[in-house]
Amino acid sequence: MNPVTYVAPLDVSGALSHLYAGVDANAAPSKVIAGGTNLLDLMKERVMGPQQLVDINALPLDQITAAPDGGLRLGAIARNADTAYHPLVRAQYPVLTAAILAGASPQIRNMASNGGNLLQRTRCHYFYDATTPCNKRAPGTGCSAIGGLTRQHAILGASAQCIATHPSDMCVALAALDAVVCVRSSAGERRIDFADFHRLPGEQPERDTVLAAGDLITHIDLPPAAQFVRHSAYLKFRDRASYAFALVSVAAMLDVGEDGKVRDARIALGSVAHKPWRVPAAEAVLIGRQVDETAFAEAADVLLAGAQGQGQNDFKVTMARRAVIRALTQAVEGTHDNTTELTENEAPV
Ligand SMILES: Cc1cc2nc3c(=O)[nH]c(=O)nc-3n(C[C@H](O)[C@H](O)[C@H](O)COP(=O)(O)OP(=O)(O)OC[C@H]3O[C@@H](n4cnc5c(N)ncnc54)[C@H](O)[C@@H]3O)c2cc1C
Ligand code: SF4
Repeated sequence: MNPVTYVAPLDVSGALSHLYAGVDANAAPSKVIAGGTNLLDLMKERVMGPQQLVDINALPLDQITAAPDGGLRLGAIARNADTAYHPLVRAQYPVLTAAILAGASPQIRNMASNGGNLLQRTRCHYFYDATTPCNKRAPGTGCSAIGGLTRQHAILGASAQCIATHPSDMCVALAALDAVVCVRSSAGERRIDFADFHRLPGEQPERDTVLAAGDLITHIDLPPAAQFVRHSAYLKFRDRASYAFALVSVAAMLDVGEDGKVRDARIALGSVAHKPWRVPAAEAVLIGRQVDETAFAEAADVLLAGAQGQGQNDFKVTMARRAVIRALTQAVEGTHDNTTELTENEAPV
């Protein structure tokens, strides 16, 4: 049995005093616990073994507040359900509501925090099976997925060390929205653009993000996005209709002028890489174009340039292309893939 100490500080500086500085946030001896829906599973499977848990649930970071610039600030320990159903999120960022509600189950969304969602770890089977080689769990041991079970794995941005994907739905919408992650450490505060927050695996697959040990996510800032409210969609393809991680997901946002031409566009793909996948050149393809399938297909081809399956997941390349075209079409129609409906277990704010 591994002994674990537990502290529950009441303010941010108290929490920081229990987190030790270091290079790799995942290897830190002292770990933040928020909803615990991922970390506790990893501890039970002996994938992660922190010596101390710093419970941040009493910190004053659970609010969702309007920002002076017209954007929104999401507290790191605001629950995923409270975020999805918040009136300002629903009204101003419907793609975020749709993405969160496409994930997990009502019970998990009631518990899961916004900060924890960003830092949830891959769902690669081998990562969770501590008896198998895995460079992400145990650097230098090898990658069991290469040549193994790859249905959920990457088609973009993989390395010879790791072909895992980031499984979050929420993060795909946050990438499309150009969110900013606000972080505190003993060295002070910093703001990290969402595009720079998650890493590709490269030679260091054990590092999921640019966070270091001792970093605490305090907020996620959403810039104003009123121009996209009428035309956005989140589309998720998965093996079951609910309670399943994505095989491919897409957050699509369009700003369409009176003349039917695209003024601005955002497209982010989920579950295809180690991070939400955005390519500015793919979005540029759509600018000034009429909204039609030809333009959407061209954008999809640029977004997926270089995509390559690992064998069992070759189908994801075609699936992703079709998903991008369909999500953009749904965005034009102003519809959302709300396959996960509001349930009685998940009370709106
Ligand atoms: C059965 C199941 C199905 C799921 N399906 C989906 C799905 O379809 N789509 C989806 O997107 N997600 C899904 N999830 C994942 C779920 O969304 C995450 O587990 C959840 O968002 C993690 O949040 P948490 O607060 O519970 O994090 P925790 O488990 O408490 O923490 C996760 C990690 O984040 C760190 N951490 C947490 N908060 C902070 C902070 N503020 N600062 C620094 N570090 C922090 C912890 O140290 C830990 O490393 C599923 C989970 C389960 C168990
Ligand atoms: S894909 Fe990454 S997480 Fe999965 S076994 Fe390989 S190294 Fe580990």
